[in-house]
Amino acid sequence: MASPFDELKFRDPERARALSGALAREVEAAGRTISLMHVCGSHEQAIARFGLRAAFPRNLDVIMGPGCPVCVTDTPEVDEAVALAAQGARVCTYGDMLRLPGNSKSLADAQSDGGNVEVVYSVSQAVDLARQRPAEQVVFFASGFETTAVATAAVLLSGVPENFSVLSAHKYVPAAMDVVSEMKETNIEGFIAAGHAATITGWGIFEPFAARTRTPVVVAGFEPLDVLAAVLELVRLVRARRPEVMNCYPRCVSKEGNGPALEKLWKVFDVVGGNWRGIARVPRGNLELRSEWDHVNARRRFRIDTAAVGGASRNVLAEHCICGTIMSGLAKPSDCTLFGKECRPDAPVGACMVSSEGSCKIWHVYGGPPDLREVA
Ligand code: SF4
Repeated sequence: MASPFDELKFRDPERARALSGALAREVEAAGRTISLMHVCGSHEQAIARFGLRAAFPRNLDVIMGPGCPVCVTDTPEVDEAVALAAQGARVCTYGDMLRLPGNSKSLADAQSDGGNVEVVYSVSQAVDLARQRPAEQVVFFASGFETTAVATAAVLLSGVPENFSVLSAHKYVPAAMDVVSEMKETNIEGFIAAGHAATITGWGIFEPFAARTRTPVVVAGFEPLDVLAAVLELVRLVRARRPEVMNCYPRCVSKEGNGPALEKLWKVFDVVGGNWRGIARVPRGNLELRSEWDHVNARRRFRIDTAAVGGASRNVLAEHCICGTIMSGLAKPSDCTLFGKECRPDAPVGACMVSSEGSCKIWHVYGGPPDLREVA
């Protein structure tokens, strides 16, 4: 029987010291700065919460890329949800999406204007609301990467009432890695892939990317030792110039992934091109409902008048907000002149300060790189 202390083996200080010692030796032997990118807010939370940057060598940069699904939701997508609320639909969404700015308003603003906006904890809860309110149109504003999209797909496949629709802002991570790896200014030499997403997709999905871009990928879990071990293995692959995929999360991730979940995902969704807020247009970066699901696709069912709520067809970021530059790996939250001043979790200016998976919010809550001047 599993012991309640089993999980502590992933937080064992001795093993952590051994891993960080090995990491220091690898990076020192490289004789240069190595830049790695992870694409997951949960990894940034683990790194910040457990103070792992203090255990990284100084000439190792572990940068957060476009790993927060709320942050990359484009402003015109928010405009669509705001417009639907203004047009009388009951818009249900996850809590982090409420204060995400659109081009003119957020859903929180729409709520203040009298719109029906509900925070839900799952897509099933939104379906329940639709069943309880048959006279209303209930729209689920769906966000999240492929992990969350599977839940949306499963609910649609199980049958939903006629008054339920989905407005998809789901995103597909592997496509964004392609875009970021092509931004040469970032100098990213290796990627840490999110273990939970890879649980669905399998680690094999990254093999074409690694071969095409000549960039190694390591799949990592979220405990401190998971992250340290993955960073160490990635540095080793970088140094050895081996553009391979390594699975450092074998207790959850297989090469093929979760077959039944993938079957559900691709029965309902298709990959299409779309803008990721402040970053770029990402070919194959958005998950949109397949045409067979037009009858539950809010974009097909309703005429969405975004102009009426101050929407715009392009992305208008708040002045001085550098979220896009941060998510592209070209700046850190502390480089933003608004960080911790005009922009705070209680008064977010940009998307990265809204979500608990946003790098600016994580750095504000836990702190960013440790200030080692006192102990140097
Ligand atoms: Fe944008 Fe605020 Fe982050 Fe600056 S601190 S980049 S304004 S979210």
